[in-house]
Amino acid sequence: MSQIRDSLIVLAWGAVLCTGAACGGERADAAGREAAATGAASEFDGAAALEAVRAQVAFGARVPGTEAHARAADWLEAELRRRADTVIVQRWTHTTADGRSLPMRNILARFRPTEARRVLYLAHWDSRPVADSDPDPAKRRAPVLGANDGGSGVAILLGVAEALARRAPEVGVDLLLVDGEDYGDFETNTDVLIGSRYFAERLPEPGYAPLFGVLWDMVGDEAPVFEQEAHSVRGAPEVVQRVWSTAQRLGHGAVFTNRSGLAITDDHVPLLAKGLRVIDVIDLDYPWHHTVADTPDRVSQQTLQLVGDVAVALIRELTATPR
Ligand SMILES: [Zn+2]
Repeated sequence: MSQIRDSLIVLAWGAVLCTGAACGGERADAAGREAAATGAASEFDGAAALEAVRAQVAFGARVPGTEAHARAADWLEAELRRRADTVIVQRWTHTTADGRSLPMRNILARFRPTEARRVLYLAHWDSRPVADSDPDPAKRRAPVLGANDGGSGVAILLGVAEALARRAPEVGVDLLLVDGEDYGDFETNTDVLIGSRYFAERLPEPGYAPLFGVLWDMVGDEAPVFEQEAHSVRGAPEVVQRVWSTAQRLGHGAVFTNRSGLAITDDHVPLLAKGLRVIDVIDLDYPWHHTVADTPDRVSQQTLQLVGDVAVALIRELTATPR
């Protein structure tokens, strides 16, 4: 209750103090705080995001080379075409270390594609071919349905796309779904991060340099805690600072904790290596990670709402010209 009261006071101050156009950012902040505290008037639809998780899992495991993978990609592409100004699809064939050919697809949905000031959000849309962390050895060769591992991040991007379709951003926004993150072996770094590596070598234009980027991965746990992932802190500390302070302003300091986290091999790493300022928001502490039980009933609508609110607020804070 006190959180709601506080945020309403902040909103009232915003209304009193901000009569000029320059105060738009502060007004947006206050509106974001109110939305986060009350659940009302949020631009991000958490219920729709959970539906988007279910819709992805309904295709089956999105394992490269399967029919479910191809059909899910078609669906994602269509969903983004309905919302974005333009959609670019990268299609290629990846040859695995053991010689198999995998059809791959990255999908890039762009808002205000000519704008130089841009934000990049990404998520992996594939799911893992083997549930190699399942407690039951008999299930370890079954594929992962990836409701949280894959599905949740995609749902955040689709929800952000919906919010931006309703009200265009002042800056450019790129929403990138990458393929093949989870296909192979992380121990040996083989056949993993396939789509983000491909994208890093083929950026949408010369000199492509978003103001900042965020990878949203495993963002649907019912008890989320996002520690500050170590590659992110080392490679783009100002982006960690930006994302965490926005989340904390929205009242989510317990979820976006200032604790240092592990270094996680994820899709932000190839982009950081290319000089892009991209961090990873991830909660690896998910009991069903890489098991057959990573299903939509283990994904929380409240968590999707919280993360989606942060993702939208980070865009709304930005104005067409730097303040
Ligand atoms: Zn995974």
